[in-house]
Amino acid sequence: MTQLSEQQLFIHKIVKNMQTSLLQENLCHNLPQVRGQYSFNYSLKKLNWFQVGGTCDVLFKPEDIEDLAYFIKNKPKDLPVYILGAGSNMLVRDGGIQGCCIKLGRAFSNIEIKDNRVAVGASCLDRTLVMTCAENGLSGLDFLVGVPGSIGGAVAMNAGAYGYEIKNYLKWVKIVDVHGDIIVLNDAAEHMQYRRGNIAKGSIIVEACFELEHLDKDLILKKVDSYLQLRNESQPTKGKMGGSTFKNPASSPLKAWELIDQAGCRGFAINDAVMSEKHCNFMMNQGDATSEDLEKLGDEVISRVKQKTGIDLEWEIIRIGRK
Ligand SMILES: Cc1cc2nc3c(=O)[nH]c(=O)nc-3n(C[C@H](O)[C@H](O)[C@H](O)COP(=O)(O)OP(=O)(O)OC[C@H]3O[C@@H](n4cnc5c(N)ncnc54)[C@H](O)[C@@H]3O)c2cc1C
Repeated sequence: MTQLSEQQLFIHKIVKNMQTSLLQENLCHNLPQVRGQYSFNYSLKKLNWFQVGGTCDVLFKPEDIEDLAYFIKNKPKDLPVYILGAGSNMLVRDGGIQGCCIKLGRAFSNIEIKDNRVAVGASCLDRTLVMTCAENGLSGLDFLVGVPGSIGGAVAMNAGAYGYEIKNYLKWVKIVDVHGDIIVLNDAAEHMQYRRGNIAKGSIIVEACFELEHLDKDLILKKVDSYLQLRNESQPTKGKMGGSTFKNPASSPLKAWELIDQAGCRGFAINDAVMSEKHCNFMMNQGDATSEDLEKLGDEVISRVKQKTGIDLEWEIIRIGRK
């Protein structure tokens, strides 16, 4: 029986490999000729903070905005596309992603300062932007200093901390839309909600502009230090992890972590997936957790919180791919 299972597994593996190569060959022929780079059957483990998940059929790193727009205009219509930021708010499932993942590289990380306005490319990391602004005596986005994402991800999620959100400073967002057109959205901030950027589905954020305040550089650096200190005291900041697992529910005066604590889930674990002892709304991969372990853990926390408090928690972490 065991022998048969092993044989079945072996055959399944061969069939899967054949399917993958056929799919890749098919994809190779149908993808537009771009200046950027394609990588096939790419492991997404290296591209997310939990370090979990399967592969994507193809990863595309565009050379520049025009290359990205050309790709979107000319890609096969039925090819699903997912945009990855720094992967700090993402749980990629173990079955991987059927379709194309897009990762913006250095060409999308420019920072341009004119008076109190800062235009920044989507792949620029939040911390880099905060420190550059501080160097230039511009304050406002300081709250982002400990958020380990990219500006694209921050706008997509309307990232926030300590009472501030992206939308408070956002002037415009440049996107490549689902048709491959490059568009500037001047009213994006008006549509943003708590941890929801509400940029049209399938749009790829390529640049954003913020209006900040002039302030003494040393004062900004002091603010930045105090934010970092606050974070170090209250949250885990290193390791294989995500940010807040669940949103703070609008229906309760209690924060998500307080509800999780009440439900007895601080330190609760499934295999190597664990709700942090330090801040119980943070989920950690303490070793070899799979995406399935992490998702099961999150779903079990939701169910225990519901049972104990009657409140429904909603995932803040974006889960993508096949189980
Ligand atoms: C230690 C730690 C602390 C954190 N603290 C905070 C915090 O204080 N506040 C907070 O808000 N978040 C926090 N987070 C969560 C996370 O860092 C933010 O949500 C961040 O903004 C996500 O950015 P990212 O580039 O990593 O996006 P990803 O995780 O890669 O993606 C998140 C979503 O944004 C979309 N996206 C990314 N880039 C683009 C783009 N260019 N165009 C369109 N869509 C895009 C993705 O498709 C996905 O749906 C924390 C995370 C960690 C690990």
